[in-house]
Amino acid sequence: MKAIRRFTVRTVLPEPLRQLEELVLNLRWSWHHETLDLFRAVDPALWKAVHHDPVRLLGEVASDRLARLAKDRRFLRRLRDTADDLHEYLTAPRWYQSRAGGPSAIAYFSPEYGITAALPQYSGGLGILAGDHLKTASDLGVPIIAVGLLYRHGYFSQSLSPDGWQLERYPPIDPNGLPLVLLRERDGSPVRVVLDLPKGRGLHAQVWIAQVGRVPQLLLDSDVEENDQSARDVTDRLYGGGGDHRLLQEMLLGIGGVRAIRAYCRITGHPEPEVFHTNEGHAGFLGVERIRELVAEEGLTFDEALEATRAGTVFTTHTPVPAGIDRFPRDLVGRYFDGSAEKVERILALGAEDYPGGDRTVFNMAVMGMRLAQRVNGVSELHGRVSREMFGGLWGGFDTAEVPVGSITNGVHAGTWVAREILELAAREVPSILESGKGWEEVRARPGTELWRIRGVLRRRLVLEARRRLRESWRQRGASEAETSWIDHALDPDVLTIGFARRVPSYKRLTLMTSDPDRLRAILLNEERPVQIVIAGKAHPADEGGKRLIQEIVRFTESEDVRHRIVFLPDYDMALGQFMVQGCDVWMNNPLRPLEACGTSGMKAALNGALNLSIRDGWWDEWYDGQNGWAIPSADGLAAPDRRDELEAAALYELIEDHVSVTFYDRDAAGLPRRWLEMVKHTIATLGPKVLASRMMRDYVEDLYTPAAASERAMVADQFAGARELAAWKRRVRKAWPDVAVEHIESNGAESPQVGAHLSVRVVVDLGGLTPNDVAVEAVYGRVDDSDALIDPAYLQLEEDEPAENGRVRYIGELPLNRSGAFGYSVRVVPGHPMLTGRADMGLVSLPPAPPGMTNGDLR
Ligand SMILES: *Cc1c(COP(=O)(O)O)cnc(C)c1O
Repeated sequence: MKAIRRFTVRTVLPEPLRQLEELVLNLRWSWHHETLDLFRAVDPALWKAVHHDPVRLLGEVASDRLARLAKDRRFLRRLRDTADDLHEYLTAPRWYQSRAGGPSAIAYFSPEYGITAALPQYSGGLGILAGDHLKTASDLGVPIIAVGLLYRHGYFSQSLSPDGWQLERYPPIDPNGLPLVLLRERDGSPVRVVLDLPKGRGLHAQVWIAQVGRVPQLLLDSDVEENDQSARDVTDRLYGGGGDHRLLQEMLLGIGGVRAIRAYCRITGHPEPEVFHTNEGHAGFLGVERIRELVAEEGLTFDEALEATRAGTVFTTHTPVPAGIDRFPRDLVGRYFDGSAEKVERILALGAEDYPGGDRTVFNMAVMGMRLAQRVNGVSELHGRVSREMFGGLWGGFDTAEVPVGSITNGVHAGTWVAREILELAAREVPSILESGKGWEEVRARPGTELWRIRGVLRRRLVLEARRRLRESWRQRGASEAETSWIDHALDPDVLTIGFARRVPSYKRLTLMTSDPDRLRAILLNEERPVQIVIAGKAHPADEGGKRLIQEIVRFTESEDVRHRIVFLPDYDMALGQFMVQGCDVWMNNPLRPLEACGTSGMKAALNGALNLSIRDGWWDEWYDGQNGWAIPSADGLAAPDRRDELEAAALYELIEDHVSVTFYDRDAAGLPRRWLEMVKHTIATLGPKVLASRMMRDYVEDLYTPAAASERAMVADQFAGARELAAWKRRVRKAWPDVAVEHIESNGAESPQVGAHLSVRVVVDLGGLTPNDVAVEAVYGRVDDSDALIDPAYLQLEEDEPAENGRVRYIGELPLNRSGAFGYSVRVVPGHPMLTGRADMGLVSLPPAPPGMTNGDLR
């Protein structure tokens, strides 16, 4: 019989053990080995049985065991030390406290978070990154308050049917059985966040707090009594269906999230955030809510509130794959916002694809994200470029390079992903890299013996774990003991091990490696230089195509001749990911370039001393240097996808056979692969400092959070004088803009141009009623191609020379002719105001009527 309701009864700990609860309730344990050691000591056998989940440990540990521990002086001393250490970690000043000017607090919104396998509230890279972001903020003392949703069913756990088809199970989650506490008013009643829905309905939510080190994480949960069933189901699972369900989730995250933060700050006295960071577009409604607040509470107009909101908002876009971007029918969104028709129109306009090629019937969350954030970034340099291209329509009239979307390359949290053995080796051999984050080059001078020994330990650990998981999976699929005896010899702890683990959207090309099965067979079964491959990955539950790919690869791994050399491990999650990135020698990645925005699993592998074998996409495009692994040549430009796959697969096979395995098996007299170890050390020495999330976090603080806080303060000061002034100025500029015109251009010095000379430019501009202070007039110049398009042009701001008659102003400047060859220039007028982040900020530009860019013959 099935229970109709389930809940978790919390253990009451004996008084001397109370601090255990404190330790469990702070998720710092998920990356703190000493705390995990302490939990293990509570009951080593049970610790294993509960898969290292401390909440379950405390829930299931026998009371006589607890009674014994409560009298164990050594254990109690250890407990006290560990709790003291946590205290110190939570209160001592850290990196952020040593710098000035940063925001008092930053609100960070994400639809998913990967903090630990024990909280399956993530589906892939976006969530893992968000988890690493919080942990790193905590380590560096960056005052982030995180906001998300608490899904009553975790992301699905994956198993296989007997014929290799992905099966999904959604484990129910009971918040009382998790390291969460309810946000309560001072009188003890649980806080309620309420959203008004059409027809007088309300969407109510309670707020759970997970403590991630120093970072409070607020999780909204709509499973409360006040809601009808459909409202209760809003937070039932990650990325709920389409349409209404998904929209309500995102409204709860964005709008409810802001309200949850306000409640949290009011109750705890935590400083209010000056900066709001939205991790992908899902939480974009947070800007709409902040505009609403300012209109209602400060009496600002929509435009003034928009300026105040936008100045302090950071938006990170995470994918160039259109399916990864949320788009809702415009009418659907319209139905959920009430108020005057004009107000609803303003909101709908924020997400409108009103640019060439856009779809007028949709509301695009990423587009809203960009309109509501003054600072926007992609997650690798290549992804920044791709995003400028992709979203360029929002800044029509500007060259792609000027589209104001920057990039901060992702990083990974070492404490979470780096094997303890490697961290300990680093602490012993090159302590500077752990203490100060410096001295990575010293890694090269260290003997390779110990590193190689540890690599062997980690590989073996992966092999044993893989066998355990294979056995479990086969048992689940109905295989008998006799049928699974081969698993005892599956994989070999001494064989070159390649890892491939990721979600399974088609662009990641799970099955590229099997495109020539015979060739792959030969590689795996090579007698002198055998190779083994460990594969894992989940397909989105609605993605039949992805499931077919999984089935295809599973079937290949089950062929009797190769099954000891290639395995598919079900249920890729953080726990399996940790085994894999730590145990593999090579991390393989073959996405369709440039669709992988960044990719982070390869960074995790690199920090553990693996070498990457990857298409030059995402982070690898930026940091592959010829010595730190291998780049699979990609046939980007090629039209036919099949042909492209074929070429890239052939290149992959060749690299593995002729380079990767040759280097791995090239051993010296002592049995060490010298060249391989040099590459590993080079990888750690050069990539180490770059791929760490602490580098990423410092970039966010310095390049985005701190400038955003400054912009925000300039808007807010003096009762929002800055926001009022900027909104009025923008209104005036927008109104006048159609009348702004470049009327006349002349130049001197183009008659006999040579390198080193200057070209004098004189321009007359009709300012359309604006003043010279409102605009910048620029010459744009440089190399031109055959169609007179300027390539990577330079910009020179021209100087106001003298007013000409009736509102016209003359500008002059000297363009340096600093290179030979075809040269051209043009002129443009753009709005200029100290509060704009750049020339393209407003998306307005006035260009001369006919392209006057004159091209000279060759300059000599
Ligand atoms: C790191 C990680 C990811 C993201 O890795 P990609 O390289 O972006 O695919 C996804 N899932 C898990 C479990 C991870 O650990």
